[in-house]
Amino acid sequence: MKTKPTKKEAENNIEKFFSRKEFSAKEVRKIKRLAMKFNIKLGKYRREFCKKCLDKLRGKNKVSKNYKTVKCERCRFVNRIKIS
Ligand SMILES: [Zn+2]
Repeated sequence: MKTKPTKKEAENNIEKFFSRKEFSAKEVRKIKRLAMKFNIKLGKYRREFCKKCLDKLRGKNKVSKNYKTVKCERCRFVNRIKIS
């Protein structure tokens, strides 16, 4: 019998996932689903991927007063990240 993964295990998986240097949009979708299932907030990990195409976020950084904006190289969506 297969045991259900626990929230702790899910959290570990998510942490491990985002410590990787490369990941694909497909994998991000999977990890997002996992987080949603366990009601885990992605918080700091959100800035690791593009909000629109879910690919690893890379591109030009621009910092303004309260936000850091990163223009996605792939879909050109401008991601705004709040600076706390
Ligand atoms: Zn994108």
